[in-house]
Amino acid sequence: MTVEVSSLVSDAIRALNAREPREATTAFGRLESFLRESSKPDPAALGEVWDSFILLLGRRGYFVSNAEELAGSLDEIHATGLGFDLYELAAAIARCDATLTECRRTVSRRMFPALEPFTPPCKCGGHHHAP
Ligand SMILES: [Zn+2]
Repeated sequence: MTVEVSSLVSDAIRALNAREPREATTAFGRLESFLRESSKPDPAALGEVWDSFILLLGRRGYFVSNAEELAGSLDEIHATGLGFDLYELAAAIARCDATLTECRRTVSRRMFPALEPFTPPCKCGGHHHAP
């Protein structure tokens, strides 16, 4: 992991742990730009944020103790829609994930498939050669 990715990931994790979803969303936006532009984006970097994301949802009163509960909570957040801080946070994480899989194609599979509904179609223009 490069120093820059790890410091962007640390910023995001710090904001998640501080229960600052807006701040975390901004940090994920910076991470997304970096992943988009870096010559060798490291897919492993993103994996570290998941536990803090789930912890934040739990602290905000969502049920997250198993996959089924989490899926229900994410549905609820998704249904609340744009403007809701946790929706925008989930979308920002999903965009980082999509950048690695769909735009850069450094990995073939989403790290967080549960967040796929939060990702709008990407307009980066890098998808023309996708199968
Ligand atoms: Zn793209």
